[in-house]
Amino acid sequence: MLHLMRAEYEEERPETVKIWHMVRGEGHVAMCGRALREDAGTLPDGEWGSTAEPDCHSCGALYLREVP
Ligand SMILES: [Zn+2]
Repeated sequence: MLHLMRAEYEEERPETVKIWHMVRGEGHVAMCGRALREDAGTLPDGEWGSTAEPDCHSCGALYLREVP
């Protein structure tokens, strides 16, 4: 199944990525359950762990269970 990284932004600075979540397909609800902005930026899931911003631990655990 396709996964994408999708950004959660800082509330005070909506253009600044706070943390990366993982979504299934091209959805807007992270695997951990958090709803993300419709226009939130995405990255290929292969970038997980290699961004300057942190990754969501809950999403990471679920993602690694689905993607060997
Ligand atoms: Zn998450």
